[in-house]
Amino acid sequence: MKESSRKQGAASPCAACKLLRRRCKEDCVFAPYFPADEPHKFASVHKVFGASNVTKMLQELPEYQRGDAVSSMVYEANARVRDPVYGCVGAISSLQQQIDMLQAQLALAQAEVVHMRMRQFPSMTNSPDNASPSSSNRRSRQSRSFFNMDMVEHNNMDDSMWP
Ligand SMILES: [Zn+2]
Repeated sequence: MKESSRKQGAASPCAACKLLRRRCKEDCVFAPYFPADEPHKFASVHKVFGASNVTKMLQELPEYQRGDAVSSMVYEANARVRDPVYGCVGAISSLQQQIDMLQAQLALAQAEVVHMRMRQFPSMTNSPDNASPSSSNRRSRQSRSFFNMDMVEHNNMDDSMWP
């Protein structure tokens, strides 16, 4: 193989082959995704998954999916290096907690809207986002379920919000 014929022009091996101290062949599976100027990418992937596993995983995928696979492996590996216990699961569960918190806040805000409508327009029986034009029973039942849900899950928040 002539080094000068390589697409990347430079005679230097890709980051993977450099770290593994091997010859970077023209058909190197790593070369398109681990350029020599980003050595940290392969270093963490190699540390967490191992070079032979990464080779296997890439070879099992069609070429058009390999770039995405490398990106996700680099993300997972970096997270694992940063947080050896939880890895990227730490990020997932913290985002899940944020979702739960925001959903609770949303439910509280929706309950407050219902509550304010009931106070302002006691004769109005249907809120605009209530699709069914049925009786007042339906609305009061719906608002009560909001209140109940918030009382159960967020007693301390409700005390300040609901006199
Ligand atoms: Zn290589």
